Amino acid sequence: MTESEPKIRLVESTENTLEKKKKRFFSGLRNRLLALAAAGFITLGAGWGKDLSRQLEVEEKEATTELLLENEIKEDALVDFKDRIEREEPEFAELAEGYRKVIEAELKDLEKEVIQQNISSPTHQEQDGQAILAEQQEYESGVYRQGSVSQDIDNDHKLIAQLMSDSVFLKNNHTFLNTSFDDIFWGVALLNDSRNSRNIAAKFIKPPTIVFSPHSQYGVRRRADMTASFVSNQWQPKITLYPQAFMGPDKQINSNTYINFFIHELSHAFLAGSGDGKRVDRKMGNDFADVLDEGRVQGVTYKIVQYLNRNNPDLRPVYKEADSYDNYLIIAEIMESIARTHMNSDFLVEWQLGLIDYRTMLEKFKTAIDDLGLSANVYRSIVDFSFGENNNKASEKFLKDLLAELKLANKVNLSNDFIRSILTKGDVRY
Ligand SMILES: [Zn+2]
Repeated sequence: MTESEPKIRLVESTENTLEKKKKRFFSGLRNRLLALAAAGFITLGAGWGKDLSRQLEVEEKEATTELLLENEIKEDALVDFKDRIEREEPEFAELAEGYRKVIEAELKDLEKEVIQQNISSPTHQEQDGQAILAEQQEYESGVYRQGSVSQDIDNDHKLIAQLMSDSVFLKNNHTFLNTSFDDIFWGVALLNDSRNSRNIAAKFIKPPTIVFSPHSQYGVRRRADMTASFVSNQWQPKITLYPQAFMGPDKQINSNTYINFFIHELSHAFLAGSGDGKRVDRKMGNDFADVLDEGRVQGVTYKIVQYLNRNNPDLRPVYKEADSYDNYLIIAEIMESIARTHMNSDFLVEWQLGLIDYRTMLEKFKTAIDDLGLSANVYRSIVDFSFGENNNKASEKFLKDLLAELKLANKVNLSNDFIRSILTKGDVRY
């Protein structure tokens, strides 16, 4: 053996690792972009696959032939995944049944809660009046831009009336959600694939409670939200649904919107809390953290919805209904393609769940970005990201810059409908 041999081997294996990373990134990103195009979020220009591979210096033979889309969740893959987890991680697998029962009962209670609403009661009217007055005062003192509190209240009342008079709307949707629960639970687990996270979930996260609230809190326009509290050493998630969680694009109650929003919140609830109860700083609520967290959750949601579509052909992923979340979703898909090339490939989920803090997550992104040979601008723009005055504009600019760095400007475009919707959106969160 000559002295130089081990050295050569080392160089070769480093090259192999780099090449492998690039290939993983390229094929991951290509699949994600194809899926987004099929769901109508983006359009792809001719040669986009070739451009991407050239940029990454990956040999790409099937750029034109492999344009056949496969959904990210496939039935046989999901069955295999479930079997493996039941065998190897029984504690996690047992959660499914417990969650299913709790959620079924919670949804039944939700139906009762909705029927008991009384918007003409003096207490309710007084609260509405206070919110309208508060807005008026803030507007007059120049603090608040002229808002739409009374319009929102009106909308909410109309939706509540519809929910109360349509006796089967909630029942039918809940029957569908209950019978689909296994698919939802295991689908989310598959998309979040992370053994560490499953361990934490089995030990520290309880199934969510679900409540109805007639109006979102004054000053915060929300369709739904998920909060978590730490009770006797476990996280207790709580999903709150406001009337606009049921509201379709025509402002009427809408099954498709509700199913999508419910799965979104459930998917938050599965990642509730912060790791093993240590309050790791995930910077949730900060700008880029929000983009990643909400974008990932919305990405999981649209894939689950696509999968459930086989049992319910009318069901489709929401877009144009979800404000800047559509932008976030595309950004999160690209970021996840980058993240999956890292040695610790599920660090994004670990951060969402609070196993690692925000800074550690960013450091891992930096490593992954450097290793892929992407420009340092990519990392810079993450660190410098800020919503400024407008979430939509800021996230759209970030997305365009990111695509330009990947040399995909004008090859990967937001669909026209989509851009129109961004221009006409308010700022409603969920
Ligand atoms: Zn959300």
